[in-house]
Amino acid sequence: MLEKREFYINGSWVAAQDGRDHGVIDPSTEEVFLTISLGGQADTDAAVAAAKAALPGWMATPVSERIALVEKLAEIYTSRGEEIAQAMMQEMGAPIDLARSAQVGAGAWHLANFVKAAKAFEFDHPLGAHAPEDRIIHEAVGVCALITPWNWPMNQITLKVGAAAVAGCTMVLKPSEESPLSAMIFAEIMHEAGFPPGVFNLVNGDGVGVGSQLSGHKDVDMVSFTGSTRAGTAISKNAADTLKKVHLELGGKGANIIFADADDKAVKRGVLHMMNNTGQSCNAPSRMLVQRDIYDAAVETAAEVAAKVTVGVPSEEGRHIGPVVNAVQWEKIQGLIQKGIDEGATLVAGGPGRPEGFNKGYYVRPTVFADVNNDMTIAREEIFGPVLSMIPFDTEEDAVEIANDTVYGLTNYVQSTDGARRNRLARQLRSGMVEMNGKGRAAGSPFGGMKQSGNGREGGSYGIEDFLEVKAVSGWAAE
Ligand code: NAD
Repeated sequence: MLEKREFYINGSWVAAQDGRDHGVIDPSTEEVFLTISLGGQADTDAAVAAAKAALPGWMATPVSERIALVEKLAEIYTSRGEEIAQAMMQEMGAPIDLARSAQVGAGAWHLANFVKAAKAFEFDHPLGAHAPEDRIIHEAVGVCALITPWNWPMNQITLKVGAAAVAGCTMVLKPSEESPLSAMIFAEIMHEAGFPPGVFNLVNGDGVGVGSQLSGHKDVDMVSFTGSTRAGTAISKNAADTLKKVHLELGGKGANIIFADADDKAVKRGVLHMMNNTGQSCNAPSRMLVQRDIYDAAVETAAEVAAKVTVGVPSEEGRHIGPVVNAVQWEKIQGLIQKGIDEGATLVAGGPGRPEGFNKGYYVRPTVFADVNNDMTIAREEIFGPVLSMIPFDTEEDAVEIANDTVYGLTNYVQSTDGARRNRLARQLRSGMVEMNGKGRAAGSPFGGMKQSGNGREGGSYGIEDFLEVKAVSGWAAE
């Protein structure tokens, strides 16, 4: 059994002052494989104090030097990719091939994009030709608390740390208590890259402990949070007394609108996208809206595709899906599958219980419901498991209305060969992102939501802006 009870504060690994043990469970075995400490107020205070002390020096460090350190970070991150992949496989059950490719790859991609974006970013520029003595300075927000979830551990950590670092912020990372191992390797990499002591600190803890201590801390200037809408609300309330900035990346209930003129791979693509990472993605296309003329055929295809999605142990190579992260998620997903049945949706693939061949591990059957209407619980709640809801629609207007009828607004998807229609829908859908015809968003494209999916934007220059204040200066002397 691994034991990793220390925190990374002010450039070194230190014992918890106010910690208590927490067992991290491997979701494929249901057994504890790692013991960490969950910190307390004294640990949070020490990390925030280190970040505060390091702030003036880091802000004064030339941007080119900050960028060079992030480049170094990216290089070491890539060289330790296999170790990080193994850690994510154990802590959150990502199948090893997915962990190596998409999970580790996302981190490398974000760091590279920040380096590129930061090199082109104008941190300091004249207001305009009309006002030569006016200057706009983009300056670090200050000490940032970075609170991250377990579902795409490195994706979320690099999106926050990379942007905060080039912006000149100092930071305290509190990774999810479900996925602390990959985060601790990341802290080692920050150290190896040579970031000055105090610029980056890591304290493990849970939401009610270190999480709330950070969101309420008087010396924290901003919280950048990714996780559930529930925790996002709690953080916003707790941060209100100190009026700190709060950037939120929360849940989703994405619609994937498939028109009768969509390409013939659209349904299959949508099902596989839903099942990816065992359905544990905030931007999962969990409501498949299909035009009525092709609805029955689409249901048949979706059922066939889902039946072929294999479930397997994370350590095996291959394209299977793994378990979900923990018992709470497993129970929640089971309850929602049952609710779908009870509320009258038609089960066409999967269903309750573990897949055949598994008697332990938090494995879920890839599940598809047909005849879902948008008022059913499975169409309204984020399930965060491999469960797809198929809803028929008649007209373009109906599709937009159903898609927008949700408290969330993270990613919507459109499948149609009619370009004018795609563009019309992209404007009408109330979500931070609209992805069409299976095209992924390019490097530097901002990730984030509207409504109860949050207010932040991560990645590329938009992500850097989230960690900057805009300072307006007049009387600027010509240089
Ligand atoms: P969670 O909200 O339970 O936990 C996320 C993090 O917040 C953890 O580090 C946790 O310890 C901490 N936390 C929990 N309660 C807190 C509180 N009151 N104060 C401060 N910190 C608190 O979420 P999760 O189960 O880890 O992750 C799944 C959720 O994350 C899903 O809802 C998913 O949609 C969302 N998510 C969103 C995005 C996005 O970019 N929009 C990306 C990934 C995941």
